[in-house]
Amino acid sequence: MTYTLKAAHLYGDLMNTYGDIGNILAMGYYAKAVDATIDTDLISLDDPFDPAKYDFVLFGGGQDYEQTIVSKDLQTKKAPLTAYIENGGPFLAICGGFQMLGHYYIGAQGEKIPGIGALDHYTLSQDNNRFIGNITIKNAETGQTYYGFENHNGTTFLGKGERPLGNVIQGHGNNGQDKTEGVIYKNTFGSYFHGPILARNEALAKRILKLALQRKYPDADFSVLDELHEDLTKNVVIKP
Ligand code: GLN
Repeated sequence: MTYTLKAAHLYGDLMNTYGDIGNILAMGYYAKAVDATIDTDLISLDDPFDPAKYDFVLFGGGQDYEQTIVSKDLQTKKAPLTAYIENGGPFLAICGGFQMLGHYYIGAQGEKIPGIGALDHYTLSQDNNRFIGNITIKNAETGQTYYGFENHNGTTFLGKGERPLGNVIQGHGNNGQDKTEGVIYKNTFGSYFHGPILARNEALAKRILKLALQRKYPDADFSVLDELHEDLTKNVVIKP
């Protein structure tokens, strides 16, 4: 392989709802089209996170119990994770992971689970309710439509410098009120979508992959990724 991306799967052993790791697998699938490979480290409790080492970070969803455990450890990684995000590092945070990048999440039992405040959103709790079901959103910048499945108690409200990943067409989204879903801040993408989101949404997978490749290899040309269409079997050679 000509190009190698180094990915960190944050707390992948504790927060990986609905196989969120599939997001890295989906990116790896498209990466083959440009002769790139993705090498993934699991970064969990007590493991250091070195922002200079990674080209992509995935932080998946989880249950409140696991989020409580992760929340404590996450504080020790607050500075390097914030530096990575501020530096334009490509990051995908799903559901619980999305919540934890913000200021806090009030769990279903009313407990306050601190995030790291790297992004300016906060998440409240619903009374005996969860948003569960299929969801469709439209991204304002690209006009692309994204499909997913949401299952969350938390209701998230975006803050300063944050724009939504999309506007809700069908489903609940961040809070069921303002029609926003997910977040984009610099090269960090957050969403409530499981599915996993990048396996179901090719355009977004390629967008984030291209960001990561271009950031690491600024002189290389990855435009072939834009030319790949639905019928990937014609364009992508899957090597064992
Ligand atoms: N526990 C969080 C909530 O219920 C996140 C859920 C998830 O990651 N699927 O809102």
